[in-house]
Amino acid sequence: MTRRRFVIVGGGVTGASAASTLRGEGFDGEILLVGDEPDLPYERPPLSKEWLARTEPPLVVYPEDWYADNAVELLTGTRVTALDRSEREVTLSGGATLGFDALLIATGGQARRLPGLSDVCEDRVHHLRTRADSDALRSRLTPGERLVVLGGGFVGCEVAATARKLGVEVTILEMAAAPLERALGTELGGLFAGIHRAAGVDLRCGERVESVARTGDGLVVHTDRGALECSTLLVAAGLVRDTEMWAAAGVPCADGVLVDAGCRTGVPGVFAAGDVVAHDHPRYGRLRVEHHDSAVRQGAVAARNMLGAGAEFDEPHWFWSDQYDHTLQSYGGVGEPDLDETVIRGRPEEGSFVRFGLSAGRVVSVLGLNRRAEVMAGRRLVLSGHPVPAEQLRDESVDLRRLLRRPARA
Ligand SMILES: Cc1cc2nc3c(=O)[nH]c(=O)nc-3n(C[C@H](O)[C@H](O)[C@H](O)COP(=O)(O)OP(=O)(O)OC[C@H]3O[C@@H](n4cnc5c(N)ncnc54)[C@H](O)[C@@H]3O)c2cc1C
Repeated sequence: MTRRRFVIVGGGVTGASAASTLRGEGFDGEILLVGDEPDLPYERPPLSKEWLARTEPPLVVYPEDWYADNAVELLTGTRVTALDRSEREVTLSGGATLGFDALLIATGGQARRLPGLSDVCEDRVHHLRTRADSDALRSRLTPGERLVVLGGGFVGCEVAATARKLGVEVTILEMAAAPLERALGTELGGLFAGIHRAAGVDLRCGERVESVARTGDGLVVHTDRGALECSTLLVAAGLVRDTEMWAAAGVPCADGVLVDAGCRTGVPGVFAAGDVVAHDHPRYGRLRVEHHDSAVRQGAVAARNMLGAGAEFDEPHWFWSDQYDHTLQSYGGVGEPDLDETVIRGRPEEGSFVRFGLSAGRVVSVLGLNRRAEVMAGRRLVLSGHPVPAEQLRDESVDLRRLLRRPARA
């Protein structure tokens, strides 16, 4: 009997998590992990934080030995260019084909490029998705340089914070009324606006970039309110999922590869997970999520199902963001249904609080700023499903861990 072969396309955390889960579950067939970047699979979150500031070395998911020790064949610098679902094979950038018994699509996404802006000047207009992008941007972040960040989402805000720490003059241009508004809402976005302004960022909300032009030694950014000179522009305008090739092969896609709760695409033997998917979450419905923890967990679920298990990714989504000395953490806040009540514990105006979302007397989401231990306790409260009285959550003298021990009575 020939050994089964599983091919994983995409050398990010999703692909690495799937490979590790396959071996952990005892799969003894071939595993090929095909990635178009030159590096071993690595962690992307530091690219806008510690790695951009060069305070920490690059973080590989597993060291090189791990792949040999676990018989995972890593094809770096290799792109999958086509899928033939009926022949069950993919074509590689060199032209070779690779047959598979099961395929995992874990190709993440790319930084969105804006025509007319992104292509004005290659060495001064930057995007951030890969280690190479982070290295290129880092070379521009020297004290006194002027950086304009187009987009006040997580990546834009994190880069702004790192750049300020490096002594760079920073302007953020955000079309919405506050940074992070889409992810966190206006109130919390306003809190982050205050944090960035206090750190010296020129934060301009409700301002739209219209064009960018080169000058002798820099760039001029024209907005609907005027012109602004800078040495470097970061276009931080979100993620694009590149699904054309998969759709052309008959894999259902709609701004992401469509998968069910178990990361199955509907094409027999073809799975997808991580940033590239539009996942049908059992609690929240169809979601496109770009968070590290979800990518790792979905990679593991897909791997189990490649082996024929009946696994589902049904957990609430978890993410964090580090900006300056602040850490934001959220569990269950993505795709959250309507809440009956939100409870604040602590002092948002002082940058230290936890916000609990309650539905039918139970905690369904927790979000905290600089309250790691309480967010962790809140996460366990969400998982426990215990009814918890709002006044106990609000009361800072109540140890949240106590609420975990027994269902509290309202
Ligand atoms: C700068 C930055 C900071 C972040 N910070 C945080 C954070 O603080 N907290 C958090 O929760 N999340 C954060 N994230 C999000 C998190 O990193 C992602 O959710 C996670 O990396 C997704 O992993 P993935 O493996 O699905 O996709 P990716 O990491 O994008 O990996 C996919 C890989 O597949 C490769 N690929 C694509 N197409 C092909 C092809 N045809 N053939 C071969 N290879 C291909 C890509 O080049 C890439 O290497 C951050 C992301 C970025 C970019």
